[in-house]
Amino acid sequence: TTKDEELVDTLYKGIVGQDRGSLSRGITLVESSHPRKLEQAQLLLTRILKYNKTKNNSHFMKPRSFRIGLSGPPGAGKSTFIEVFGKYLTRKGHKVAVLAVDPSSSQSGGSLLGDKTRMPELSCDLNAYIRPSPARGSLGGVTRTTNDAIVLCEAAGYDTVLVETVGVGQSEFVVSDMVDMFCLIIPPAGGDELQGIKKGIVEVADLVVVNKSDGDLVPAARRIQMEYTSAIKYMRKRSTVWKPQVVRISSLTKEGIPELWESIQTYNISVLQAGEFWRKRQKQHKIWMWNYVKDHIMDLFVKHSEVREKINDTEDKVARGEVTPGQGADMLLKEFVKGL
Ligand code: GDP
Repeated sequence: TTKDEELVDTLYKGIVGQDRGSLSRGITLVESSHPRKLEQAQLLLTRILKYNKTKNNSHFMKPRSFRIGLSGPPGAGKSTFIEVFGKYLTRKGHKVAVLAVDPSSSQSGGSLLGDKTRMPELSCDLNAYIRPSPARGSLGGVTRTTNDAIVLCEAAGYDTVLVETVGVGQSEFVVSDMVDMFCLIIPPAGGDELQGIKKGIVEVADLVVVNKSDGDLVPAARRIQMEYTSAIKYMRKRSTVWKPQVVRISSLTKEGIPELWESIQTYNISVLQAGEFWRKRQKQHKIWMWNYVKDHIMDLFVKHSEVREKINDTEDKVARGEVTPGQGADMLLKEFVKGL
């Protein structure tokens, strides 16, 4: 309707005019599951994508933003780091958006991440935009709209998008699939404290950042840096132009932050020049489309009334061994496609 179009038009103009309130309302809109709002969100996204495309510098295929994933166990110093790193970037003239993906938020009711009190200075910075994690059920629900939010932030002029996540469930792997560069932040402690780090996550990290390398913690930080450096040496190469690095920083003294930014830029330029940057993004976009298809079909499936009626009974039969799991699945799927 024209009313929808008017609303979308106002939001669109606000967002590309770099108005934060409009950006927030835009993200809320894409996060909504209300059918009418969904339609409005689609209208908005179509226009925003078109805008982002025309604004692209097509000669160099320069991206609208560089998307950096930041993950690490609780207490590693993520929020302290983002506060310091974000301020460092805004001082350099960048516009920084911080988005959070926190699957624990839907259980606890509140997000550990994206809480503005965790980044008091950055949240007052007019060149920074901090958005807490949406709280929607499963990890799929939480991440459903993060990709859309990234696109909106880019249209609003944010050239650096930080996507923060905690080491809960599969969130780190999910986030590594939505960013151009994935950084793992760890504290200078071994053993028990590092058990929060999932096996395999180091393998997808482009950069391992040992934080808290200051004062008494320097020797431990060096040790951890060496351990991880030798560990990643034997990992499968994912890029022809970039070797994952382990760097040491202190978010407290700010030591190592400029060097870290250097590394990030070197990575960015290398993968862009090698053509890996856009190949990765294209692959990611396809991954997400299929993720959404799967999520949506699953959603339709469990809400389907005939299927729902038979779920308990079929589960019982499968559990008791009266039908095989494959037969059980076929029985439910038959109900599902009957109506199609
Ligand atoms: P998060 O849970 O990963 O977000 O961790 P926080 O940023 O809340 O930090 C956890 C604790 O580590 C806080 O008490 C911080 O003050 C402390 N911390 C963070 N960064 C540093 C650092 O670079 N050096 C030292 N010594 N402490 C730090």
